[in-house]
Amino acid sequence: MADGRVLIAGAGIAGLAAALRLHRDGYEVVVVERAEGRRTGGYLVNLLGSGFDAADRLGIVDQLRRHDQGAFTSNVVRADGTVRFTLPAAMAESALGTRVLTVFRGDLESVLHDAVAAAVGIRYGTTVTGIEPDGARPLRVTLSDGTVDEVDLVIGADGVHSGVRALAFGPEEEFVRDMGHVVAAFPLDAPPATTPPRTADTFIDVGRTAAVFHPRAGAASAFFTYRTDSTQGELEAGVAAALAERYADLAGELRAVLDSRAAHSRGAYFDAVSQVVMDCWSTGRTVLLGDAAWCVSLFAGHGAGLALAGADRLGIALAEHPDDVTAALRTWEQGLRDEVREHQRKARLGMARYAPPSRVHLEIQNLMIRALTLPGVGRLLRPRGPK
Ligand SMILES: Cc1cc2nc3c(=O)[nH]c(=O)nc-3n(C[C@H](O)[C@H](O)[C@H](O)COP(=O)(O)OP(=O)(O)OC[C@H]3O[C@@H](n4cnc5c(N)ncnc54)[C@H](O)[C@@H]3O)c2cc1C
Repeated sequence: MADGRVLIAGAGIAGLAAALRLHRDGYEVVVVERAEGRRTGGYLVNLLGSGFDAADRLGIVDQLRRHDQGAFTSNVVRADGTVRFTLPAAMAESALGTRVLTVFRGDLESVLHDAVAAAVGIRYGTTVTGIEPDGARPLRVTLSDGTVDEVDLVIGADGVHSGVRALAFGPEEEFVRDMGHVVAAFPLDAPPATTPPRTADTFIDVGRTAAVFHPRAGAASAFFTYRTDSTQGELEAGVAAALAERYADLAGELRAVLDSRAAHSRGAYFDAVSQVVMDCWSTGRTVLLGDAAWCVSLFAGHGAGLALAGADRLGIALAEHPDDVTAALRTWEQGLRDEVREHQRKARLGMARYAPPSRVHLEIQNLMIRALTLPGVGRLLRPRGPK
């Protein structure tokens, strides 16, 4: 189906990366996106390992470097905003190596968008409302604007709350695992007054984390995540009320962030932290990609990278099996499964870093982080280069 028509739901990281790769491979690509227009801003994401490699193969590393925030100084602060200890930027730099990019999610999306927009039509304010039963070719897909399209492949890259997954695989409750935490992230209207550029101030306490990041360029951003018995209850309260209650004791820069207009704006990202676990990521000619298929959660820190890698490898698999889409999707999935499983496992273990279960855990964690600043310890973290 190398000259086939592909419909992608979702113009996020996975959807745009798939559009870029498949358009380049000769497919006719159509993207539908539920949002009315492009979204910007967002939180910081690291691209390293297979995510960086995929960005490289997709040909977007040079463009991303222009948005790279690089390594930054990390202050661990108390509730009143005073600094407990500092991890210098050089430490992160030496631990991560050179094949890494730290960019705002919105910048990654913009770079992908700019790479495909001229060639691929993106229909905003549109969703998939019906997919004809599996296997048929062409596959008849109904869209929310009432049109019907005939395509060879449908890619559901429409995030954790995927509409394509609901249509083709079943209700969200079957696949989305609530991790008992919520996350809020939003860009700030003004740079933080006391956190200098290229610095993050992070407050970690029992069951919660709060952080503000002042980048080298672009808008500063804030990030909060905490454990809760009722993610639904928190989401219903709304971001401003939920954060105000949970972080009432904070002072200093983080207090200013909580009181800011941005924390009360509709643009703030506020959701339950979840993983998506499925036995199979495709059915017939419908395949899920990125968070829709395998969300590893923010605690894994590799979701954007996996979205890029998944899209790029989907293109490779389809090219290797031009006449057999079932074999292509099977091979693609087999190649990604272990990596996804490992990131999901590490995320479940890593939750405690963002929301330590007790004061003892918190103090042990602080001791461990502090130990990294001891002479010689940082060297142990350096990635090993070729001999
Ligand atoms: C605070 C935070 C920090 C993170 N840090 C990192 C990190 O350091 N490194 C990393 O690699 N990852 C990180 N991630 C994860 C990463 O952001 C996601 O895994 C990644 O964005 C997933 O991309 P996606 O395209 O699959 O989904 P999304 O980015 O969610 O995109 C889905 C798109 O589909 C659209 N959509 C939704 N429903 C529909 C519908 N029914 N029809 C059409 N369109 C629809 C949405 O509007 C959106 O544009 C972080 C996540 C969070 C929340």
